Amino acid sequence: MHEMSIAQSVVDIILQESQNHQVNRVLSVAVKVGELSAVESESLKFCFNFLTKGTLAEGAKLEIERVQVTCRCQGCGSNFTVQGLVFVCPSCQSSEVEMVTGRELSVESFEAE
Ligand SMILES: [Zn+2]
Repeated sequence: MHEMSIAQSVVDIILQESQNHQVNRVLSVAVKVGELSAVESESLKFCFNFLTKGTLAEGAKLEIERVQVTCRCQGCGSNFTVQGLVFVCPSCQSSEVEMVTGRELSVESFEAE
């Protein structure tokens, strides 16, 4: 499952960080997920809960921030939000666009004690 491997890398990161900072318990984890990464928030939470059982992060709250797909037009330089996966600049109709956000999959921060 797609979400399982993503959750695994999130868990790996926070457990590694927890070790570096000698924390006792992870309280919450904030992750950013781009809309294009096709991750279901609910299944990601489920996998996260499953993988953190018996670790420092057991019971930690997973906060998922979804990031919209945005592009920058190489023709006119404007930034725009992509709706319905139409990668065309709304200002000049150019399709020469470069993706700025939407593929994120990162651990932003986490709270621990
Ligand atoms: Zn444009």
